Amino acid sequence: MSFQSLGLNHQLVENVSSLGFEQPTPVQLQAIPEILAGHDVLAGAQTGTGKTAAFGLPLIHRLLESDVDTETKQVKALILTPTRELAQQVFDSLSLYAKNTPLKVAVAYGGTSMKVQVKALESGVDILVATPGRLLDHAHVRTVDLSKVSYLVLDEADRMLDMGFIDDIKRILKRMRVDRQTAFFSATFGKQVKKLAFDILDDPKLIEV
Ligand code: AMP
Repeated sequence: MSFQSLGLNHQLVENVSSLGFEQPTPVQLQAIPEILAGHDVLAGAQTGTGKTAAFGLPLIHRLLESDVDTETKQVKALILTPTRELAQQVFDSLSLYAKNTPLKVAVAYGGTSMKVQVKALESGVDILVATPGRLLDHAHVRTVDLSKVSYLVLDEADRMLDMGFIDDIKRILKRMRVDRQTAFFSATFGKQVKKLAFDILDDPKLIEV
């Protein structure tokens, strides 16, 4: 099975091929068609399985195919991660996957200047990768408007909950459209993780690798 036969846009196939990805990994094989079809997904996947491309590629594809005006400055896809390091890593990967497309990707996390991030956000961002606390800081001062987010990814949801981000996540969810598409990735599924997944996903497709 190739990336092309999963139905991904030509530019995306070219981008992953130039990164040396020859075949989709198991989580990519399962998640990409479901996300392309517009379903919510609940995926059990560890780091190193290729999960970033599993949610990133179909999300970029959907943004490129949709009628959303890439001229508008509002964020259309949001990826939440527990740590700065993971946010930076996901941002780096998505920037490579979205190369030679009109989409703009940005990253926002704590511990660095708000100012630099505000500048990037104000110039218009389609895909934003962020940690929950810093994202709320931006939402409060209105440098980020979450009301147009149509795609949400929770990456390493279990770690986000372990780090005490549940209230921040709930506050973020309240600012977003309820008819968004959501992908929920977690390595483990304890009680609190399951509850959050149940609360925020709509008839999700289950993916296990
Ligand atoms: P992740 O689990 O998303 O952190 O990805 C782990 C590593 O696998 C990253 O270095 C990716 O660049 C790489 N990777 C992701 N998908 C593929 C693929 N289909 N073929 C080869 N390498 C991949």
